[in-house]
Amino acid sequence: MDLIFKIGSPGRRGSTVPAADVPEKVSLPGGLLRGRKAELPETSELQTIRHFTLLSRKNIGLDSTFYPLGSCTMKYNPKFHETVCAMPEFSELHPLLPQLRHGGALTQGALAVIYETERMLSEILGFSQCTMQPLAGAHGELTGAMMIAAYHADRGDRGRKIMLIPDSAHGTNPASATMAGFTAKTIRSAADGGVDLAELKNSLNEKVAGLMITCPNTLGLFDPGIGEACRLVHEAGGLVYCDGANLNALIGIIRPGELGVDVMHVNLHKTFASPHGAGGPGSGPVGVAEKLVPYLPISRVDKRDDGTYALKYDFPKSIGYIAPFYGNFGVILRAYAYLLTVGSEGLEKIALYSILNANYVRQKLKGSFDLPYDRTCMHECVFSAEKALQKGIHAADIAKALIDKGYHPPTICFPLIVKEALMIEPTETEDKDTLDRFIGAMIEIAETIQSDPAKIKACPASTPVSRIDETAAARKPITACIG
Ligand SMILES: *Cc1c(COP(=O)(O)O)cnc(C)c1O
Repeated sequence: MDLIFKIGSPGRRGSTVPAADVPEKVSLPGGLLRGRKAELPETSELQTIRHFTLLSRKNIGLDSTFYPLGSCTMKYNPKFHETVCAMPEFSELHPLLPQLRHGGALTQGALAVIYETERMLSEILGFSQCTMQPLAGAHGELTGAMMIAAYHADRGDRGRKIMLIPDSAHGTNPASATMAGFTAKTIRSAADGGVDLAELKNSLNEKVAGLMITCPNTLGLFDPGIGEACRLVHEAGGLVYCDGANLNALIGIIRPGELGVDVMHVNLHKTFASPHGAGGPGSGPVGVAEKLVPYLPISRVDKRDDGTYALKYDFPKSIGYIAPFYGNFGVILRAYAYLLTVGSEGLEKIALYSILNANYVRQKLKGSFDLPYDRTCMHECVFSAEKALQKGIHAADIAKALIDKGYHPPTICFPLIVKEALMIEPTETEDKDTLDRFIGAMIEIAETIQSDPAKIKACPASTPVSRIDETAAARKPITACIG
């Protein structure tokens, strides 16, 4: 396939513009004017459409293939929610429209969506309130860490500067804690993949602000020690932050607030059906226990006695604004539609099927790949491809081989505590046939690693470009050059 710049020819047009019937007037200073005409592709409408349609087909996505990208919850997002989101009554609202008088009726529906979603989430999570403001999971972490800092400062407890973070936590946690002014200190995992409670106990003192724990952790495991960890941290005067970005395995089964967690974010774009990838769009609401409510960011949506909704800003202990306007409204709206569609009786099924699917893959592939933590997993399972190193094959090579078999690769080389990790998250929206085909492809790859590793090294052969310099591709992408 050629660059769009190459397919045109001089004079081709997709549209005609009437000749100007007013005098041309250049008001820019000469130095700012372009010396020669811009080099723009000159193509017909049909050429342009074919070009972009072909490009879109090179894209690999959830709507075309199984996408088991661990930790990212690439589950199917029902198209109905896109229809809701595109309704002009929502999509054409301006954030500065008045709330009540003078046309406020226009925004009451949107405020109701934010309010009702916040109430449903608080109920699901077992917290007093949530903020719907954060624009991503990591942004939610930062918001939560800032609230923990505000809580200690408000009590005059200013020496608490250390945030304990298990080595099985998500990589964004230490970054968020550091941005909020804490020093991150790692806690090792025990042999069962849970937090080492003895090490946690030894690390707790009056300098510790709290613990940031990922649940389920990045090994895809539920930590049976989480309740005890919360108790120990509280006893030492700290607070517990839970990274609940992937709520898929807990929803409808466990209310994290009841485990003793004080503050937690969830990613609406993972569990609550917003299409995502390549950095967005996201929403990472943060739920808090009663003691952290005063510190929640502004704005907040309030429901008045007369049934109308209003934005409120007057909370003197609030950490303030963390985002412009009212959060990522389109993502909140999709979550609202999703929650109403699924209903409270459907929530538990999300969790049970995501756990069932992950454990099915775990059981079927454990003869072919090493399973460092071999116990019932939650929404994802983590294998190690370390043994393939003997044949010169890395986890990345297995990912490339899967592309040729028509699948999006799983997450690789994460979590860092598993060598050559393959982190597979099938999600609850895939059926058994799809899982069986994927499992078959993985087993074939495992066999080829033994019989013909060079063949794996040559993958992918089915894509416009094969192996690329991945560092350069991330740091200095040449986005226009395809084929
Ligand atoms: C995805 C994820 C995050 C980060 O979420 P973003 O929206 O990408 O910022 C944090 N923690 C866990 C466990 C995640 O899976």
